[in-house]
Amino acid sequence: MTPEEFRRYGHELIDWIADYRTNVATHPVMSRVQPGDIKKQLPAEPPRQGEHFADVLADLDRIVMPGLSHWQHPSFFGYFPSNGELASVLGDLASTGLGVLGLAWQSSPALTEVEEVVTDWMRQMLGLSPAWSGVIQDTASTSTLVALLSARERTTNYSLGRGGLQSEPKPLVVYATAHAHSSVEKAALLAGFGRDNIRVIPHDRNFAMDAMALWRAIDSDIELGRTPCAVVCTTGTTTTTAYDPLWEIARVVERYGLWMHVDAAMAGSAMILPERRSLWNGIESADSLVVNPHKWLGVAFDASLYYVRDPQHLIRVMSTNPSYLRSAVDEQVKNFRDWGLPLGRRFRALKLWFVIREQGVEGLQARLRRDIDNAEWLADEICNTPGWTVLAHVTLQTLCVRHEPAGLTGDALDAHTLAWCDRVNRSGAAYLTPAILDGRWMVRISIGALTTEREHVENLWATLQAAVSK
Ligand code: PLP
Repeated sequence: MTPEEFRRYGHELIDWIADYRTNVATHPVMSRVQPGDIKKQLPAEPPRQGEHFADVLADLDRIVMPGLSHWQHPSFFGYFPSNGELASVLGDLASTGLGVLGLAWQSSPALTEVEEVVTDWMRQMLGLSPAWSGVIQDTASTSTLVALLSARERTTNYSLGRGGLQSEPKPLVVYATAHAHSSVEKAALLAGFGRDNIRVIPHDRNFAMDAMALWRAIDSDIELGRTPCAVVCTTGTTTTTAYDPLWEIARVVERYGLWMHVDAAMAGSAMILPERRSLWNGIESADSLVVNPHKWLGVAFDASLYYVRDPQHLIRVMSTNPSYLRSAVDEQVKNFRDWGLPLGRRFRALKLWFVIREQGVEGLQARLRRDIDNAEWLADEICNTPGWTVLAHVTLQTLCVRHEPAGLTGDALDAHTLAWCDRVNRSGAAYLTPAILDGRWMVRISIGALTTEREHVENLWATLQAAVSK
């Protein structure tokens, strides 16, 4: 494709995206295709000759569009939001169009320095002290893996330089609650801790870690000859948006010298609101922290911020130094390849930079406050309607709800819950995620798509009430 052809098709594609965003509410939120429907429209083999690019673009509407569930739809209430402010879409386009790589500072100095500045802007926006240094990773899953690798190496005094975990005299243990995200268990397994050494700490009735139970579990592991290594706390769990008590956990962690990692993938964005920061009191005692601007904040997937208090330790764990990557200025600059797993780094910072500049901190704060107001309104409506229950405290924008008709319990209640949720999703009017809480199905309503206004939440409430009476 020549630059002139790119100009022509690029304009078309931008128009196509702008039209999509303008009309996104006209689509059914959840895709209605059946498994295999998309694949069977695609040739099994690649084209031998190049095709007209206009035909390729046309297939976006013909083949791809019916197979999409629409995350930017105002009635998308599933999972957690994955907002893509259009400014961040342009940031991604600029990044890909430039096609530069940050293998080292020297391989594209602006790539590193914009990243340094925007991660520090975000640090300030989140109300964190200057003791934190940030880097952009792809996802929270990667950030948590990096955290547990760092924890493992600190506890073992850099066993990677010797026989690794395989030569440690005692097993290392990681602690989290059952409400930690599945990426925590995955990270612990990949980091070599082994399932036997992942300790599930009981939670209280708000689904938050019981710090005393953590204390007892650590003592018991020491008695049994194991080495406590890391605690993964969550600020805003996936199921109910619960908050582990960081301040209390920090006291335990300090006593035993454990690594404290905080997964604030979703709720971290809310910390740009000073009035919500008490939710992570104690954060300054943590060793590492992940926040995903690619969720509620509005930076198009993927952009995960990983902050650490001791970057030298991170670099010692992650660094490689082959001759072809060295430069004369290495002592004066940051080489982000030493701050995570991949060597190649694209210019992700651009989309964060574009969004913060285009929205301003106040613009971002106003949208998050709007969503919290909408969630509080809906929680009030549901709580005041007989037969409906809100099952967990609504601290931000996610509600866990159940419709409980008189006399319906146990498996019959589960069947009712899954049936009405499925009716809503298949109607195309809204998208919700069912999940299990305390052994029973309930439905999560996660408010926070960019375009979701009060009227959409009102419509959702009407849709839910109609769905349960069918
Ligand atoms: N942690 C929490 C609390 C989450 O809710 C999620 C995803 O929803 C993750 C981690 C994983 O995020 P990612 O897709 O960035 O790995």
